[in-house]
Amino acid sequence: MIDPFGRSISYLRVSVTDRCDFRCVYCMAEDMTFLPKADVLSLEELDRLCSAFVRMGVRKLRLTGGEPLVRRGIMTLIDSLGRHLKTGALDELTLTTNGSQLEKYADGLAAAGVKRINVSLDTLDSDKFTELTRWGKLDKVMAGLQAAKAAGLQVKINAVALRGVNDMEFNDLIAWCGDEGFDLVFIEVMPMGEIGEEARIDQYMPLSMARAQIQRKWTLDETDYKTGGPARYYTVAETGRRLGFITPLTHNFCESCNRVRLTCTGTLYMCLGQNDAADLRAPLRLSESDAPLEDAIREAIARKPKGHDFIIDRRQAPAAVPRHMSVTGG
Ligand code: SAM
Repeated sequence: MIDPFGRSISYLRVSVTDRCDFRCVYCMAEDMTFLPKADVLSLEELDRLCSAFVRMGVRKLRLTGGEPLVRRGIMTLIDSLGRHLKTGALDELTLTTNGSQLEKYADGLAAAGVKRINVSLDTLDSDKFTELTRWGKLDKVMAGLQAAKAAGLQVKINAVALRGVNDMEFNDLIAWCGDEGFDLVFIEVMPMGEIGEEARIDQYMPLSMARAQIQRKWTLDETDYKTGGPARYYTVAETGRRLGFITPLTHNFCESCNRVRLTCTGTLYMCLGQNDAADLRAPLRLSESDAPLEDAIREAIARKPKGHDFIIDRRQAPAAVPRHMSVTGG
């Protein structure tokens, strides 16, 4: 699949549920209204949709959410999608998780062919962790991470950089990831969904500033390591682990975008930061044949926009896109 700007679309991120067992302050409001269950695609429908994308050229699938591991029966979907790894149609099946359920699922994930996972963790301080996630327990995530390691999964920690909240912990996070053998990626907070915007402006921290701060203590060697995602990677000489930065606000990385995102209701967003979307649920349910679905996918890719225009600025209207990150998935 090639879009109008010549970019090959080989990476599909799928939000398998909008529900989550955490309420991270920068991601969701505390009193979120979730989708009625009837609107959400069944696991079989999600499989059929993902498989159509794989047939059409997607090489990397990432399951996300909401929290993917709170979707009931999720291992049925993951086991089933694992068949595309076995045939070689898919290079990678992975997921982004908050880690709360990893103790239960790590072995199953490894058995299904998952090799790497991203775990979101912004702080190593357990009180701060509960404050940030509202409902999360750091111990549970730590136990999940150990289970992932024991199952042989490679772990990448994703931390959203929040000024005045975790910026004083960057060095600890780097050292801890070095000790544990995890890669680490810092992410700029993006203006998505209504959460109380004053808070977001106050917390926003450009990663150029974070990197300068980190380089006072650590030696960052340039690398051209790529995962197919948007992070720019360095190697931390002192730990030997990779450190990445995802900078949607200070550096627009859309020119190399290879991704599209599917929600759990079958809506395809061709860009995380734009509102245009294509409904794939109707063509999916229209016929047992996948022909209408494949036509709809092709038509959507032909509309993929050139890029997003996120801005965090007091003069701008609040959120650049009205949907929360939990809808389109991180
Ligand atoms: N529940 C899973 C998790 O916690 O990783 C997957 C979904 S979560 C929405 C995916 C990622 O998006 C997390 O790393 C989270 O920190 C990040 N995220 C959520 N809202 C964000 C925002 N406004 N800006 C930047 N990252 C955000």
